[in-house]
Amino acid sequence: MEGAGTKQVLKLHDDYIPFAFSSAGKADASLVFAGYGITVDEWKYDDYKNLDVTGKIVVLLRKEPAFAAFHTPKDQGSSHADLITKAILAHRHGAVAVVLNGKLAKGEKDILPSFGGDGGQVDIGIPIVAVKNDTAAARFKAAGKDLLASQNKIDESGETASFGFPESLHATIDTGIKKKHATVSNVLAYLPGKTDEYIILGAHYDHLGRGEYGGSLAPSLIGQFHPGADDNASGTAGLLEFARILSPLKGQLPRGILFSSFAGEELGLLGSAAWVRQPTLPLDKAVAMINMDMIGRIAKDTIYIGGVGTAAGFRSILESGVAMSGLKAEYSDSGYSSSDHTSFVVKRIPVLFFFSGLHSDYHKPSDTWDKIDPKAAVHVVDLVADTGLHIDELPAKPAFVTVVESHPAGAGFGSGSGYGPYFGSIPDFGQVETGVRFSDVRPGSTADKAGLKAGDIMTQFGDQPVKNLYDFNAALRASKVGDVVDVTVLRDGKPLTVKVTLEQRK
Ligand SMILES: [Zn+2]
Repeated sequence: MEGAGTKQVLKLHDDYIPFAFSSAGKADASLVFAGYGITVDEWKYDDYKNLDVTGKIVVLLRKEPAFAAFHTPKDQGSSHADLITKAILAHRHGAVAVVLNGKLAKGEKDILPSFGGDGGQVDIGIPIVAVKNDTAAARFKAAGKDLLASQNKIDESGETASFGFPESLHATIDTGIKKKHATVSNVLAYLPGKTDEYIILGAHYDHLGRGEYGGSLAPSLIGQFHPGADDNASGTAGLLEFARILSPLKGQLPRGILFSSFAGEELGLLGSAAWVRQPTLPLDKAVAMINMDMIGRIAKDTIYIGGVGTAAGFRSILESGVAMSGLKAEYSDSGYSSSDHTSFVVKRIPVLFFFSGLHSDYHKPSDTWDKIDPKAAVHVVDLVADTGLHIDELPAKPAFVTVVESHPAGAGFGSGSGYGPYFGSIPDFGQVETGVRFSDVRPGSTADKAGLKAGDIMTQFGDQPVKNLYDFNAALRASKVGDVVDVTVLRDGKPLTVKVTLEQRK
């Protein structure tokens, strides 16, 4: 910061630190205090009202005004308090941002947040840094203001206290963010057969860590361990079990088996995509890829099997296996979904995907071992083994069949995530009679901007009725960025229709 004949150079870690979701970039501009940096129509409150911050550096407070407590549950800030929400709003106003601690809670110190943690995967589009109160205090004083008095004024009056600092107090922000790359490994084992053809048995072994790097469906529990017992310790255990059972058959099966534990699936099928890019065995000798991703939570004795249409003989093999397994099956022809087999179907390799279904613990810290049904999982593993050995014994390599995707979502089970336009709702994967219930709505997302909320149940998306997640995904993926869609939800039991402008996934 510089100004009024003095130049104050701030020190990284001591005085300031960029947020992990900051862009790299430089800004030399005048400073504008924009209170909490929020705009909330329902509260009739807008820190940006009558304030032109284009090309400027906005100085913001953490959290939200004291009166927000009347509108949001006790001790639980609203999404307006989210730093990412504030950053998006500042970006929309054409500004870059500095965030100050402001008033401190009892026992809290004026310290900087640690770099990393939330939002590490996102680049919000503007430089945004945290600066200590103490560091900024002189700037306020030079402008004839006081930081805490400005904050108190907002809290006590419910009115904004935004103001522009004198031009002489302009500042320079220069952030450089280096993305650090980590190497993780797929773990492969090959059981040779009598020929050089082979089947790939796969299961991803990664999960979400503590949820910091995207994927957690419990945003308020980020930082807690996400064990992923079903997703995908269950499939990984199934894979190990196959390896144990089949390893004595070295050289005896007609075709080989490649046991594949894939890494990086949760970050976007990274491990399986890397393998098909640089396969350790010739791709044209691959007969089929069989994927197990979540096989531990069978409900109503039903297994979901995807990819059934990707080779002509698959359905009859499955039907006889299912008949013996004691399970019921729901089949989907599509070989596309948000798991590793998708990496293979794009290479025109027939695939099968075994999946025991979604549940409320999906991608949350509550996906724990005690909820796994091991007996049912054994039935699934038996069925996969039976299917795999049948395919292994087929006299001729099954020809790949291109499935015409009438529902582009296929057997996907996402949150409006993956491919196509972005929506930003977080579905509750538990049972809803009809519709898709939102367990949350991502701040600043398309859904958020349209006023959709946690607890809403989506029943209609454009001209498509939405009875379940698959309908929703299909409707979303069939639409384009920029489309304006009427979305109907049930809120407190009453239908409500809003216009949603679909945005580009960022
Ligand atoms: Zn998974």
